[in-house]
Amino acid sequence: MVESREVEVLIVGGGFSTMPLIRELEADGVDWLMVSPMTPIWQQLEEADALDFDLVSSLQSSVYSFELVEMLNELGENFTDGFPTASEFYAIHKKYAARHADHIHNDRVDSIDNHADHSLVHLESGETFRARHVVVATAFRRQMNANLKQIKVDASYAGKSVAITSTGDSSNLLIAKLVAYGAKVHLVTNGFIMLDKMFATFSPLDNGPRFVPLDQLECHNFSEVSKWSYRAFIDGGYIHGLIHNGFAKLFDRNSLGVRHPRSIRPHQDIRSFFKARAPIENGHIAIKYWPIDVYRLYCEETLEQKIDEGYLINDLPFFLEHGHVKLWDKSSATIDREAMTIREDGETASFDLIIDGDQEVPNIPEIRMHGSSDGEQFSYRPRAQFLGVASPKLDNIYTIGFTRPFTGGLNNISEMQCLLVHRMITDPAFRDEIRSDIDQRIADYNATYFARRPEKKTDHLVWYGTFTDEVAKVLGIRPKRSDTPGVKGLMKYYMFPNNVFRFRETGRYAVEGVGELIEHTAKQYHDYKVLALLVIRYPFFELLALATILLAPVPWWVKIPAAIIHNRLPFTSTLVGKFGLPTRESKAIFNYRKAISFPVLAYPLVAAVVWAAAGMGTAFGFSAALLAYVYAMIHLGTAKGWNRKFFCDMKSKRSPEMVKFFERYRKVFGRVKSIRQRADQLD
Ligand SMILES: Cc1cc2nc3c(=O)[nH]c(=O)nc-3n(C[C@H](O)[C@H](O)[C@H](O)COP(=O)(O)OP(=O)(O)OC[C@H]3O[C@@H](n4cnc5c(N)ncnc54)[C@H](O)[C@@H]3O)c2cc1C
Repeated sequence: MVESREVEVLIVGGGFSTMPLIRELEADGVDWLMVSPMTPIWQQLEEADALDFDLVSSLQSSVYSFELVEMLNELGENFTDGFPTASEFYAIHKKYAARHADHIHNDRVDSIDNHADHSLVHLESGETFRARHVVVATAFRRQMNANLKQIKVDASYAGKSVAITSTGDSSNLLIAKLVAYGAKVHLVTNGFIMLDKMFATFSPLDNGPRFVPLDQLECHNFSEVSKWSYRAFIDGGYIHGLIHNGFAKLFDRNSLGVRHPRSIRPHQDIRSFFKARAPIENGHIAIKYWPIDVYRLYCEETLEQKIDEGYLINDLPFFLEHGHVKLWDKSSATIDREAMTIREDGETASFDLIIDGDQEVPNIPEIRMHGSSDGEQFSYRPRAQFLGVASPKLDNIYTIGFTRPFTGGLNNISEMQCLLVHRMITDPAFRDEIRSDIDQRIADYNATYFARRPEKKTDHLVWYGTFTDEVAKVLGIRPKRSDTPGVKGLMKYYMFPNNVFRFRETGRYAVEGVGELIEHTAKQYHDYKVLALLVIRYPFFELLALATILLAPVPWWVKIPAAIIHNRLPFTSTLVGKFGLPTRESKAIFNYRKAISFPVLAYPLVAAVVWAAAGMGTAFGFSAALLAYVYAMIHLGTAKGWNRKFFCDMKSKRSPEMVKFFERYRKVFGRVKSIRQRADQLD
């Protein structure tokens, strides 16, 4: 019999997601070994010369807490959030891989036999390890990853037609390159949720725009105050699959869904979005993109350099609006792969190349369970895995990195999972406590985070801030409201997003310097005052509308259904969504916004005084007049281009200014890429 080597903790897979676990194991002096051929997706892309894009998630949510602290220490006041490029991101991984190189065994795991107190890990080389604990972090398998490596998009695509049958961040990256080179894309889709990944906020106190990434504006704890308000704020009048198309046509004719109906995700896919007990349900996919107007503000001055670094315009709504991309309905379009045509409703288009994608599938080696079900093979299901890390069917085997965020970075999820796994490995009492009622814990989680619907292949996608919060609660490291006194503390508790580092300021897993990092971040975002105003504004607008209905001189049995209809049809969130953000830093714009916001914020008090002094009829007149004024002003601002919708602002995408900028972008893109190509050829 071949003897097996013994190790306390064996980590299968050397990717980005397990480095925080290694840090904790090292701090405790636990014996560990990583088995991996070290071929993370980033290494594969680098080898294929395709590491030429920026991340869809912000720096704050994509990078380890301790790494962010190091960056802050190094850069001081110049440390800002933004979107790291793929090569910057991979450089961090390389740094840690090099640091731990002597603990990395270069091989691939073939299979694992799991027993009650150990596992036998079989490698492709024939070697076997006997490990007390095994951590599997082997990422996902996905066709689109192979496409990104194999399909070299270059100038030869100019004038070509390319059909793409999957929609997600990766296919959107391919679309960005194809369109920049002048190709036409036929996107065969069953709809999508498109979210602007960066916002520009203006303040009279600043000289120019302040940039805030989408994932840093999610203020997850605010949902504790009111789930209803939180959902309305997050929606921003956007989730058009939930809005009846007739209503959308009437109130927001300029929305993406009305202008491009095939972009609307089928109602059955999206209707559970706000239907779980949690503020937002697990299991939804969103594409995060650079809106062209914000991209312009961010990149125009150094366009050449930015394109060279990998910052590309991937504004799908803009591409749709200008015919660079055409949508086809997956459920009714017919694709003839031999004739290379797509047909739908009597319309036919031909294509020169078709690119297919698929769903991501965990790339877990075979695990045989030797417990009650001898030799049975383990299969990973998001709804059967406690917080994505522990299965009731496996003893001392953990999984990391198979839970993903639909906004924000994977690191927010995986660093938290690393802490949970670390505690389960090193604290037997904690592990026993979890295992004693793990089935109940999983059931409770599922009842909170999934609406009543069948399982689907996207169930592993979570709202990052509620996920990190759940893990923090289990680990006992979640800061309480009473831990942050004062007004600043109030803002910090309710407005600061649940990035993983929020849970590493104090407590068992504290990282020195996180306090300064939080303070620095809050300062950069003006202590989240803009966000607080946005969040607070919604209930006041809703109150004005509902109070107007309730004060109306009509019988009560008309008022009640009218209030319900008002609430069911998202009048207010559509309105507030349209009000959105100011488009530029002129003082006049701020006065216009104040002229709308201040009367609405003062409304409850003034209306109460009017009612007490002059009676219900006058109070109704006052409310109705204010409501009409607000509607008129917001529509005026939208028509004039002073308001920018939070998501998919079609008005800015249609402006001639943006069309002109895109023409310039394309020219610069072509120039930068050809210089690159020539340099590569010389190498
Ligand atoms: C194009 C693209 C863009 C992305 N953009 C973002 C983004 O903007 N933000 C973000 O947060 N995330 C992004 N991701 C997702 C995610 O962050 C990365 O994929 C991340 O590197 C995943 O880390 P991981 O450790 O789970 O997997 P990986 O880093 O891929 O590592 C997996 C490791 O497992 C090893 N392995 C596999 N099978 C075995 C085996 N049988 N035995 C031993 N070892 C094995 C591999 O060699 C590899 O070293 C993106 C992914 C892609 C493909």
